[in-house]
Amino acid sequence: MSTKDYLEKDYYKVLGVSKTASQDEIKKAYRRLARKYHPDANKGDADAEDRFKEVSEAYDVLSDEKRRKEYDTLRSMPGGFRGGQPGGGFGFDLGDLFGQTGGAGGGAGERLGDLFGGLFGRGGTRTTTGAGRRARRGTDVETEVTLSFGKSLSGATVPLRLTSEAACPHCRGTGARSGTVPRVCPSCEGTGLETRNLGSFGFQEPCKECRGRGLVVDDPCPNCRGSGRAAGTRTIQARIPAGVKDGQKIRLKGKGAPGENGGPAGDLYVNIKVRPHPVFGRSGDNLTLTVPVTFPEAALGAEIKVPTFGGQPVTLRLPEGTPNGRTFRVRGRGATRRDGTKGDLLVTVEVHVPQKVDDPTREALKRLRAAGGGDELRGELLRQAREE
Ligand SMILES: [Zn+2]
Ligand SMILES: [Zn+2]
Repeated sequence: MSTKDYLEKDYYKVLGVSKTASQDEIKKAYRRLARKYHPDANKGDADAEDRFKEVSEAYDVLSDEKRRKEYDTLRSMPGGFRGGQPGGGFGFDLGDLFGQTGGAGGGAGERLGDLFGGLFGRGGTRTTTGAGRRARRGTDVETEVTLSFGKSLSGATVPLRLTSEAACPHCRGTGARSGTVPRVCPSCEGTGLETRNLGSFGFQEPCKECRGRGLVVDDPCPNCRGSGRAAGTRTIQARIPAGVKDGQKIRLKGKGAPGENGGPAGDLYVNIKVRPHPVFGRSGDNLTLTVPVTFPEAALGAEIKVPTFGGQPVTLRLPEGTPNGRTFRVRGRGATRRDGTKGDLLVTVEVHVPQKVDDPTREALKRLRAAGGGDELRGELLRQAREE
């Protein structure tokens, strides 16, 4: 019988006893029901025959303290675990789960702890040793890098120190001492699993001989003591493309944790932080810049020199009567896009009011003020303010 069937059946209900029933109560209930549904007493009654089988099965499990405990433990799992899949399927196989225990020893209680550790404690990807020999994709890893404004625009190759589990560098993940190789486990013939038959039910467990790896190491690697895994830091050179923005997350395929048993490596996600520049800002693919201009320059028009990022200054022609806050576009001086083209530089003019003026300027400004215009400028405002 499959594990699923076994978990879906309520053996306590079948026998009509409570979950805390004593062995004596279980035995009594079984005897009563066995007599009632015994095939000899119900000739040709298929329902009775089924009931009799059920009762026997329930008794087989509940009368054995060890198997009862195992059954109770598995059934106490949250709903998602117990046939929570559509159609009552099992989310994952127990062989996989029990692989986390690392083999022999440990009662049902400890096993439960391991199950939860394996399921909920590792971000969903089970990568530890001893969980069967199938190929597994490595875990995705996330890290953060802070770039200068310039590096974010030009792109950069940055060293990233990652702390994660990786293949042991001494044995390249085989677990065998350098110069030796592991051999296929003779007990499970490399499957990593052994089937335990317990009469009415059975399930697959990791092979005790090889702890589910499918391989045995005669001469273990001294660095990783045969596990093939090494926890520690590794440094990779990550190529950050030109034009990345602050707050962007980029994916470097295959730069995450290495896979197992020939599985592909996970991905590395890099959260980008960009240090602000004192002058230039960023708006999408464009760079932004605010440039002060004098009132006469704005009023009469002027050719002004504006800086570009990483290049020579360019000359911007302000037309006569340029209002404060107008933005001009300098093409092709922005950030590099994915396709290699560039955004623009957006230059916003800010009419500057001097805080201090020298005497000749003061005289010139006085003449300009005397020429009037102030009252006319505000005339319309004053008129409209009187409206109801
Ligand atoms: Zn084995
Ligand atoms: Zn090693």
